[in-house]
Amino acid sequence: MFDTRITRLLGIDYPIVQGGMQWVGRAELAAAVSNAGGLGIVSALTQPNPDDLAKEIERTFALTSKPFGVNLTILPTIKPVPYMDYARVIIESGVKVVETAGNNPQEYIARFKEAGIVCIHKATAVRHCVKAEQLGCDIVSVDGFECAGHPGEDDVPGLVLLPRAADEITIPILASGGIGDGRGLAAALALGAEGVNMGTRFLATVESPIHDNVKQRMVRASERDTALLFRTLSNTARVFRNSVATEVLEIEARPGQTDFNDLASLVSGQRGRMVWAEGDINHGVWACGQVVGLIKDVPTCRELLERMAREAAAIIRRRLPALLASGAAHRIEESDVEGGHVVLDKNAAPIEKVAALNEVGAP
Ligand code: NAD
Repeated sequence: MFDTRITRLLGIDYPIVQGGMQWVGRAELAAAVSNAGGLGIVSALTQPNPDDLAKEIERTFALTSKPFGVNLTILPTIKPVPYMDYARVIIESGVKVVETAGNNPQEYIARFKEAGIVCIHKATAVRHCVKAEQLGCDIVSVDGFECAGHPGEDDVPGLVLLPRAADEITIPILASGGIGDGRGLAAALALGAEGVNMGTRFLATVESPIHDNVKQRMVRASERDTALLFRTLSNTARVFRNSVATEVLEIEARPGQTDFNDLASLVSGQRGRMVWAEGDINHGVWACGQVVGLIKDVPTCRELLERMAREAAAIIRRRLPALLASGAAHRIEESDVEGGHVVLDKNAAPIEKVAALNEVGAP
């Protein structure tokens, strides 16, 4: 149904990727997404050491014959991480796709590319997308301010960030942040992306390895239920607005520079992990994007992907052409498409037949 540079590069049916998720990106979820026709991703740092990552990748190979990837996030951590050892395991495992996130991935990208691995880098700013392209990345995952986890410090949402990135780079773009249904997928394609990356939406799926209390709380949540922590430390993280997040915000609001040591015991990933494992929503902080306001059910990964693809195709084939046709003011011709942008001729005659447009708009 969809044919983009991303579906071709990654060897997937739907242009939908499950982004790296600390404590959640395990073999079961990654394999479920890949088996459903998207790209599942195992999160490297969820495994306590590189040897355990090697075993987790083996487990994923046993659960799916489809392509899947591994995420390596390079951000401040409470305990030092042997990133290069994780990278070595990824290369030796035979995985064909890597998603890096966080700081400049230069030294890792060089090694991954030597091993013939397709490299996706997650970027929250246009200048970081340009850098990723220069480093030889194959795909950039452009993370708008709506996203869960670390949205960077520029606060530019996807609606502006995606077309800005599309203007500056030539490698294909995955739209990330704020996407949870077919409307988001269709919008992302319209803005210049060739696929989407979702984290929060995959948290609330049947195969997601977290406690059902969390999934049900997400279904009841609104788009106002997230909070931005670590603004005072220039390491902003969007998380679910629970009692621990509120406590952290109170500490950060005190006069003077925040000392991370005052927050560490509240925000440690080990505490957040217990939320997923035991279902006590307020036990620790857990990453969650604003898209949580759009989540109304807990489908299987297959149901989710098929539904999103159907919805997006219906929007592209029917809703959008119908809007143009009934507006009756514009006509799109091949000559109207310049450098990926549709240039509307305001003086053009009304469209007689929607079918003509379907030719242009069909995925
Ligand atoms: P952790 O327990 O080491 O740290 C908990 C949180 O505190 C993380 O957000 C981390 O970035 C932040 N932090 C740690 N030391 C800091 C410092 N000195 N100054 C400012 N902030 C600091 O992290 P974890 O939960 O075990 O996660 C491991 C890695 O994965 C971290 O780098 C984390 O940022 C990252 N992560 C990313 C996402 C995402 O959605 N992108 C979600 C969860 C975790």
